Amino acid sequence: MRKELDEKLCATYPLLFVDRYEDMTKTAMCWGFDCGDGWYPLINALCERLYARYNYTKSRLQHTEDGTFRYKDEAAKQWALTKLQEELEQEEKDIPIVFQVKEKFGGLHFYTHPREGCSEGTRERAQQIVFIYECISYHVCEECSIMEGVTTEGNGWIKTLCPSCRAERDKRRQKLVQEKEIFELE
Ligand SMILES: [Zn+2]
Repeated sequence: MRKELDEKLCATYPLLFVDRYEDMTKTAMCWGFDCGDGWYPLINALCERLYARYNYTKSRLQHTEDGTFRYKDEAAKQWALTKLQEELEQEEKDIPIVFQVKEKFGGLHFYTHPREGCSEGTRERAQQIVFIYECISYHVCEECSIMEGVTTEGNGWIKTLCPSCRAERDKRRQKLVQEKEIFELE
């Protein structure tokens, strides 16, 4: 995935990609997002889902602080603020840490591990969400994000592509093979 999209994901979801620039002995995220640009919207949607509860509580907290949400008195507002702060702290811990994102046999693989102090069932919840998006990836072109006519196949190297990206890829492959043959003849 190109640098610009990689940086966008890391900037939007810092809790998920906290290990993006960590050492290779600790995480495979140091290699970045090992898939085509076409899966950017899919990965973005997945990350948004993993952030959903946290972002919802964060917006409720902001609305309480700025007065959009009205309370009957100051004591009620303070009580709500304390409660929302606590919820937000827990939901931050419930966001998993990503340690690898890659394409394998034509599908998206998104590996996470839970944060210390996460609540019970967090791991299973994250895995269920991730599983859905990994399944969808087989229906999204890895190059251009299109969903029409997408297939998972290929000569030797299996890829999930739309008809036009597959034709482009085959053309490139053919050219490479021809160049190799010419090179060998010389
Ligand atoms: Zn395509």
